[in-house]
Amino acid sequence: MKPTSFDYTAPRTLGEAVALLADEERDAKVVAGGQSLIPMLNMRLARPEVLVDITRIPELDGIRVGEDGCLRIGAAVRQARAAADPAVREGWPLLAAAIGHIGHPQIRNRGTVCGSLAHHDPAAELPAAALALDARFTVTGPRGTRTVAAADFFVATFSTAVEADELLTEAVFPPQPAGHGWAFGELTRRHGDFATVGVALVLERGAGPGGGARPEGGGPAAGTVRRARAVFSGAAPVPLRLPAVEDALVGTDAGPEARAAAARAALAGLTPSDDVHATAEYRREGAAHLLVRACTTAWERCR
Ligand SMILES: Cc1cc2nc3c(=O)[nH]c(=O)nc-3n(C[C@H](O)[C@H](O)[C@H](O)COP(=O)(O)OP(=O)(O)OC[C@H]3O[C@@H](n4cnc5c(N)ncnc54)[C@H](O)[C@@H]3O)c2cc1C
Repeated sequence: MKPTSFDYTAPRTLGEAVALLADEERDAKVVAGGQSLIPMLNMRLARPEVLVDITRIPELDGIRVGEDGCLRIGAAVRQARAAADPAVREGWPLLAAAIGHIGHPQIRNRGTVCGSLAHHDPAAELPAAALALDARFTVTGPRGTRTVAAADFFVATFSTAVEADELLTEAVFPPQPAGHGWAFGELTRRHGDFATVGVALVLERGAGPGGGARPEGGGPAAGTVRRARAVFSGAAPVPLRLPAVEDALVGTDAGPEARAAAARAALAGLTPSDDVHATAEYRREGAAHLLVRACTTAWERCR
């Protein structure tokens, strides 16, 4: 199919973009990488009168780590650029790994980090990664700029806290605690497919009875899990953080018993639906298996 006709604009400042989106006379929509929106236009699932291309706005095109240690990724930054950025790879490796699971290189070369967050497909990698990393989002519109925590940002399938006349201008990722361990895993039918289900896990190690040191000759860190953030994708209309899973890990050495308890908590807490891709049961079982693997990997990565 072909899209309905629309006008295309490429403003050079954020102010111009906001004014275009705020124009009540015409239905305007942001386009960033176009990797989700263009197919939607072609299928006539979206019929905007004006596309506002935000990728030519220099103030939205940055990746930087501020004095507060936070990573800030502007709305024009492509996924591939973020995943290759040395600061991202060093300080937020979970984010780089999550991007690596998105589609194929061609998609990541065009798609933006913020576009994926604003689009909010429940099976997408970045919403789950953002929640696991405790990200927050800067949203700008005619009423000014506001900050929304990841926990409040994802409202429902393909719906976020961004209003129609606003845009997501940057995603902000706080510094991760020293020595944290992380893992990102997903179940897909074929390489590059949207995930059937996925998990993003961050563990923070505290100095438990073992003093927190790595045993001589390497191996997993001693000590216990001080904090855990476990987020599932593809299992609910929004990325889902399960406190019961986190509680099952905190205070433990993330060993086999703790992993089994976490998996039981995931099985009890996840209530996905059946759809054409998988049954609910398959998703729950898959999520629990991914979680067990993620616990091992994240704990091994704790330094
Ligand atoms: C073949 C294929 C495979 C894919 N596989 C995956 C996958 O495995 N995992 C995955 O997560 N994604 C996948 N995608 C989607 C891809 O990640 C998209 O790039 C992403 O979902 C949207 O980012 P975008 O920059 O392309 O946004 P666009 O397509 O330009 O926009 C998407 C939507 O978000 C809105 N939007 C974009 N940016 C902003 C902003 N800054 N503020 C407010 N609204 C905004 C648009 O108005 C539109 O409604 C795939 C896409 C294709 C074509």
